[in-house]
Amino acid sequence: MSASTAGGRALPPFRVALLGEGVGASLTPAMHEREGRLLGLDYRYDVVDVPGATSDADLARLLDDLRHRGYRGLNVTHPFKQRVIGHLDRLDDDAARLGAVNLVRFTAAGTTGHNTDWTGFRSSLRSALGGEPGAGLDSVLQVGAGGAGAATAYALLGLGTRTLGVHDVDDERARALVDRCAALFPGAAVRVASADDALWTSADGVVHATPVGMEHHPGLPFDPERLRGGAWVAEVVYRPVLTELVVRARASGRRVVDGSGMAAGQAVDSLRLLTGREPDAARVMAHLVELLAGEAAAPGGAARPGPPPGSRLLGGSPRFLGPATG
Ligand code: NAD
Repeated sequence: MSASTAGGRALPPFRVALLGEGVGASLTPAMHEREGRLLGLDYRYDVVDVPGATSDADLARLLDDLRHRGYRGLNVTHPFKQRVIGHLDRLDDDAARLGAVNLVRFTAAGTTGHNTDWTGFRSSLRSALGGEPGAGLDSVLQVGAGGAGAATAYALLGLGTRTLGVHDVDDERARALVDRCAALFPGAAVRVASADDALWTSADGVVHATPVGMEHHPGLPFDPERLRGGAWVAEVVYRPVLTELVVRARASGRRVVDGSGMAAGQAVDSLRLLTGREPDAARVMAHLVELLAGEAAAPGGAARPGPPPGSRLLGGSPRFLGPATG
């Protein structure tokens, strides 16, 4: 057992997990564990990999099981970010407005859902684009209206974007996100953007929030050459970090925000909410860069199967296996 000590006293293990489908190779456990331990905690982060077809009853049992086993909380990812909401006692204001949860905290008062995807994206965009609210953010085109897109749109509108176009191959998803955002931010002009919307050539920046560019979903979601000369590009995909979009947009001289800042930012904000301690954001980012570089250099690159060394994989069917010791 690797218990940390405080003033000679052993600290109880601080246990957290990631719940999702196909999350065995996630880099989140490594990010959390290193930072948690550097914060002085006996921090353990497990992976609960369950099929998306898991029933609501099994999902409820699984959450209950984890809570009773002493877990402090869970990060939640695809395809449970919306489904988990019905099983929680409460949501914080932003998660309720956004309609998606990527962090659940278990406390004596019950279960609370949060969303740190949007705060992670917000910090990443702020630090990359210079910080002044509204600077270069007045008009934005967003491609992708799924879970990540809900978080990026919420962050953009919160940062002061006044015109937001949402483009998605699935018109209904684009419409649903536009309607939600328009109701939350009545002062902004939010619309569904078609493939030839004027924003493609006039927007201050473009956010890419679809899976295109991931190792198993290669390709270019749109041609960055098409955008206005000074338009920035923000990418949410971070495995690999150098997506075709990032490479092409950088080659054309644009300011590009890759997906690693959002990923590190959501981990930092999750750690803060879970532990009540202040993580070192630069240290977490540096660790993620190191993990991504190691992954890119490994045979099979970012797609290599299986959990990263040191993580514990729980799962298969919705069952629960105790974490590995050590
Ligand atoms: P999702 O399946 O919920 O949504 C994807 C959306 O993209 C869908 O609405 C789909 O119709 C649309 N789409 C797919 N191909 C398209 C195309 N060519 N043009 C226009 N629209 C298209 O997925 P998600 O959960 O939103 O995840 C999207 C990506 O975001 C994934 O790669 C995920 O890894 C990444 N992500 C990154 C972070 C981070 O921290 N950097 C956080 C969350 C998600």
